[in-house]
Amino acid sequence: MILKLDDGDAPWPADAPSRFFAPLHGLQRWIASASVVLVSLVLMLVGCGQDSEQRLLVLRGATMGTTYSLQVVDPPGAFDRSALAEQVRARLSAINDLMSTYQPSSELSRFNASSTTDWFLVSPELVAVVSAGQAVSEASNGAFDITVGPLVNLWGFGPTPSAEDLPTAGEIQAARARVGWRQLEVRTQPPALRKSRPDLYVDLSAIAKGYAVDQLAALVESQGVSDYLVEIGGELHGRGVNGRGEPWQIAIERPNASQREVFQVVALRDIGMATSGDYRNFVEIDGQRYSHTIDPATGQPVRHRLASVTVLADDCMQADAWATALLVLGPEPGLALAEQRGLAALFIEHALETPEGDAFVTQETAAFAALSAAR
Ligand code: ADP
Ligand code: MG
Repeated sequence: MILKLDDGDAPWPADAPSRFFAPLHGLQRWIASASVVLVSLVLMLVGCGQDSEQRLLVLRGATMGTTYSLQVVDPPGAFDRSALAEQVRARLSAINDLMSTYQPSSELSRFNASSTTDWFLVSPELVAVVSAGQAVSEASNGAFDITVGPLVNLWGFGPTPSAEDLPTAGEIQAARARVGWRQLEVRTQPPALRKSRPDLYVDLSAIAKGYAVDQLAALVESQGVSDYLVEIGGELHGRGVNGRGEPWQIAIERPNASQREVFQVVALRDIGMATSGDYRNFVEIDGQRYSHTIDPATGQPVRHRLASVTVLADDCMQADAWATALLVLGPEPGLALAEQRGLAALFIEHALETPEGDAFVTQETAAFAALSAAR
C-alpha cells in the first residue's frame, strides 16, 4: 500500500523566486534548472510499487528553495502521519528561522546584518553547523568557505543578486576582501559567533540542506522507524530497506543526457549522500554558463571539467559540505584530498563532446567503491 501526503511548507526564499527554476530579470541571464538533474531527484526506488506488501508513507513539500521528500516503510501500527508531517514542517521551519539567508529575521541574517565585531550570541544549532563548515574550510584549505556570500551575490546567486553583467575585476576584488573563513570565529560556551569585520556575510547554503536531512532522519528515528529515505534537494539519508526489503538504491543520472538515463546506482545503507554539480544551478551571461559554486581563491565560479561530485558520509551535513569543497578543488586535487582523508567520493568529469552529446568519465575513491556497491 502507498500512502501519499502532499505537504506544503513555505519555501526558503519565501518571497523570492525559487533559486532553481525562476527566471531572473536581465538580458541573457537565467537561473536555469538542469534539463537532466544529477541524482535526479532522485530516486530509483526499487520495490515501492503498488504491489508491495509493505506500507509506504510518502511526505513531500518545499523548503530551502527546493523540495523535500520522506519515505517511511512499514511505519509502526499507531503511526500518526499527519503528526509526523506537522513535526517535519516545524523542524524545517525552525532550521530556516536559524540559518536562512533568505529570511531577514533569521538568526543568521541578524548576525550578518549586525555591525558588531564582538561575540554575538546564537543558538547551539547554528554554532554546530558553522563549526562543521569551518572544519571543512580548514581541511580543504579554504576551498569550502561559508563567508563566500558576497561573491555568490556578485555572480548573480543568493538572496541579493547584484550585477546583470559580468562583475568587474574591481568588484571581485572588493567582494574578496570581505571573504575568508578565518575572519569568522565560533565558540560553544556560550554559543556565539564573532566576525573580524562588520561586513562579513555568512552563507550556509552549501551545508544547511545536509544538516536538515540529518535532522529529519533523527526525527523519523525518534518515532521508532528504521526503514526510511529522507531527501532535500537531492541530498539524502537512507537507512534500512525499501518496500522490497532491499537497501535503498539511488540512481545518479547521466549528466546532460537528452533522455533520462541511469549513470550509476548507489545503495544507501544508513548513510548520507550529497551531490554538487554544474547542472542544477547556474547563470548564463553572454552565452557562457557560470556555476553557483565559487572558488574563494579566485573569486570566480568554478570552471573545470568536473560535472559533479557525490559524497557519502554518516552525516549528510558532512557529505553536503565536502561535495562542494571537492567540486571547488577540482578533479586531481579533489580526488587526492578525498583519498587522503578516507572520504567516499565519486567524481564525474566531462571527457569530450560527441555529436550524441557529452561524454563522461568517473573516478571514485576506495571508500566510495566499498560503500556504494549496489548489492
Ligand atoms: P550544490 O548542490 O551544487 O552543492 P548547494 O546548494 O549545496 O549546491 O551549494 C551551493 C551554494 O553554496 C551556492 O549557491 C552558494 O550559496 C554557496 N557556495 C558557493 N561556493 C561556495 C564555497 N566555495 N564554499 C561554501 N559555499 C559556497
Ligand atoms: Mg552542497
